[in-house]
Amino acid sequence: MIPFDYVRAGSVEEAIRFGAEPRTRFIAGGTNLVDLMKETVERPERLVDIGRLNLDGIEERPNGGVRLGALAPNADTAYNPIVQRDYPLLSSAILAGASPQLRNAATNGGNLNQRTRCYYFYDVATPCNKRERGSGCSAIGGVNRNHAILGTSESCIATHPSDMCVALAALDAVVQVIGPAGERKIAFVDFHRLPGDEPQTDNTLAAGELVTAIDLPGQHFREHYSYLKLRDRLSYAFALVSVATAVSFDGDKISDARVALGGVAHKPWRSRDAEETLIGSKPSEQKFADCADRLLEGALGRGANNFKIDLAKRAIIRALTQAAARTPQSQIDKKIA
Ligand SMILES: Cc1cc2nc3c(=O)[nH]c(=O)nc-3n(C[C@H](O)[C@H](O)[C@H](O)COP(=O)(O)OP(=O)(O)OC[C@H]3O[C@@H](n4cnc5c(N)ncnc54)[C@H](O)[C@@H]3O)c2cc1C
Ligand code: SF4
Repeated sequence: MIPFDYVRAGSVEEAIRFGAEPRTRFIAGGTNLVDLMKETVERPERLVDIGRLNLDGIEERPNGGVRLGALAPNADTAYNPIVQRDYPLLSSAILAGASPQLRNAATNGGNLNQRTRCYYFYDVATPCNKRERGSGCSAIGGVNRNHAILGTSESCIATHPSDMCVALAALDAVVQVIGPAGERKIAFVDFHRLPGDEPQTDNTLAAGELVTAIDLPGQHFREHYSYLKLRDRLSYAFALVSVATAVSFDGDKISDARVALGGVAHKPWRSRDAEETLIGSKPSEQKFADCADRLLEGALGRGANNFKIDLAKRAIIRALTQAAARTPQSQIDKKIA
């Protein structure tokens, strides 16, 4: 047993004051942090419980967008009527993740900040640069079937495990944070980072900063969307590859397109250049394949995960085909269930 202090924050101001102490972690639903503490991967000296802060609302914004509170449970977010109506891509991505029980406990802020599922990160008997900087990466040359093919470094080839975040990246969400230096906004694509030489750092939050909300812009993609998650089991498994797609049309031509990948990089993977290859075109398998090739430029397998390169290409083509045809994967899954 490793001892630690526990305090419950009564206000955001108190959370920031407590969170400014070194070796402190915020705890929300606890579905990831408690597991990591049990495995001694995380050893905080103090937990700041933010679970009772008034940050669980989901509200429409004057610009036609929606603000998702950081403490709103993943389940409440996915089943919220506004989210279901306006952002079905987000709702289906959340519901593709974890299990009903976990989604009831897991919060939106915790989902963004969950840590990689690399097996070596959890196994404290093995070297891992993310857990202990400079110790080495056991996945390079090791068991790496689940690992990244894009944006990797020689320090780390881990993936970010979230489903929700892939949809948030595609939808151009903005993360609202507050910390000792005040409030700021982070564009979702800049929230998570690539491993580089500092794989121990997952995202661009400064020490002690608290995520308070996630803003979705007024562009909804209500009709043409699909979240396709490919995994070893149909439920309760992390993505090998996932794709969040959304398109809009002007007549029969694509006027806007979003394609974000999960399970392939240290962050949700997007490329505006790849998306622009679709704009002004009629939907076609060839166009979708060109977009996939652009998005996957530079992809590198490390042995057991080589299959992800071809799988990702086929998944992108399929998800875009589903989005264009208004037959999202979530509807197909409902019929199977
Ligand atoms: C068996 C299992 C299967 C799963 N499957 C999936 C899956 O398929 N897809 C998927 O996407 N996820 C999956 N998950 C992960 C799950 O979604 C996350 O554990 C959950 O979203 C984390 O939320 P939480 O509120 O419990 O976070 P916590 O465990 O409380 O916290 C996680 C991290 O976030 C930090 N944090 C929490 N809130 C904030 C905040 N507001 N500001 C700053 N930092 C914060 C904490 O300090 C901690 O470092 C699975 C989890 C389990 C246990
Ligand atoms: S891939 Fe990253 S998390 Fe996994 S062992 Fe290597 S350094 Fe650690």
